[in-house]
Amino acid sequence: MTNVCVNGYGTIGKRVADAIRKHSKLKLLGVAKYSPDQDAKIANMNGINVFVPKESVAVFESKGVEVNGTVDELLESSDNIVDASPDDVGKKNKQVYSQKKKKAVFQGGEEADIGFSFNARCNFDDGKGKDYIRVVSCNTTGYCRMICPLAERYKIKHVFASLIRRGADPSDTKGSQLNSVEWKAKSHHADDVRSVVDVPMSSVAFKIPHTHAHINSMLVEFEGEKPSKDDIYEIFKNERIALLNNATTSSQIVETARDLGLKRFDIFMPCLLMNTFMSNGNSVFLSFAVPQESIVVPENIDAIISQNNLMNKEESMKFTDDILDMRNIKTQLEKIFS
Ligand code: NAD
Repeated sequence: MTNVCVNGYGTIGKRVADAIRKHSKLKLLGVAKYSPDQDAKIANMNGINVFVPKESVAVFESKGVEVNGTVDELLESSDNIVDASPDDVGKKNKQVYSQKKKKAVFQGGEEADIGFSFNARCNFDDGKGKDYIRVVSCNTTGYCRMICPLAERYKIKHVFASLIRRGADPSDTKGSQLNSVEWKAKSHHADDVRSVVDVPMSSVAFKIPHTHAHINSMLVEFEGEKPSKDDIYEIFKNERIALLNNATTSSQIVETARDLGLKRFDIFMPCLLMNTFMSNGNSVFLSFAVPQESIVVPENIDAIISQNNLMNKEESMKFTDDILDMRNIKTQLEKIFS
C-alpha cells in the first residue's frame, strides 16, 4: 500500500481524498485542513483523519474539530502527497515536500514548471517515476481527452479554442462579477494543452457569472482526412467522455446528475454536445461541457499510480473508472440525452 495524504481539503481535495479511499493500492492517511470550517467536521464524521498546522490545533479543537495531528506529521508519514492547495500555493509547499523527499501531485493552478504536466490518456507512461506531477487544469484536461484520440488518427493542422468559463464553484464566496462578461484574448489554455500534447493551438476565454460548467468549443482544422460525425461517435465511444445528442442547457446536465443521485453531482467527464457538431471544408467544430469540480479527479488517481509505477496505463485507467463508476455514469447520461 502507498500511504497518501491530501494537502488542502477544498473543492478538489475532498473529491480526490474520497477517490483515494476507494483504491485498493492506496491508503489515505489523512487530509490537511487550514480553516476550522464545516468541511473539517464532515471529514471527522466520515472517518477521515484531520491534520492542521501546529499553531492552529487549539483553534480547531475549540471549534469542536477532532484533530489527529499536525500537517508536518502528516507529510512526514506519507509516501506521496496530493497538493490541492489554492492557485500558486503549491509552489511554496513544494519546498517542504522536497526537503522531506516526498513525491507529490500538484493541480492545474500551478505554473507548468512545477512538475510533469499529466493527462492519463495522453502521457501516463511518461509520468512513471516522476517525483513531481502537475495534473493540468479542468479545461486543459477536457481538451486533452478530446485532442489525443483525434491526433492519433488524423493530422491536426490547428485547434482554435473558445472557452466560456464558469465564474465560481458552487461552494465559492469568491468569483466573477454578477453583471459582466470578462475575457482574456490569447488565454493560457492553448499553452497548457501544449504542455501535454504537441498540437498547434490558439485560445480565447470568456468568464461568465454562473457555476455549472465550463462550456468549451473548438474548431479543429485537419490536414488531409477529417472525421465525420459518425467517426466522432466511434472514436470517443470508449473514452472518458459522454456523448450527448440532445442536451441544450448546462442546467439539464446538472439536474440529471442530481437526479441520478451522484455524490456532489460529480460526473468526472466532459460532455460532448453532439448537437453542436458542424463540419466545413477541412474543419470540424465541436463544443463540450466540463464539470470543473470533478473532471481532474481520475487524473489525480492515475498520476499517483503512474509516478509510483503501481499499475500499467490500461489497468490504472480501468481501475480508476471502476472506483468512480464512470462507465455507468457515461452510459446513463448517453441514454438520457440520446
Ligand atoms: P479551494 O479553495 O476550494 O481549496 C483549497 C484548499 O486549500 C482550501 O481548503 C484551503 O483552506 C486550503 N489551503 C490553504 N492554505 C493551504 C496551504 N498552505 N497548503 C495546502 N492547502 C491550503 O480550491 P480548489 O478549487 O480545490 O483548487 C485547488 C487547486 O485545483 C488549484 O490549483 C486550482 O486551480 C485547481 N483546480 C480547481 C478546479 C475547480 O474548478 N475548482 C478544477 C481543476 C483544478
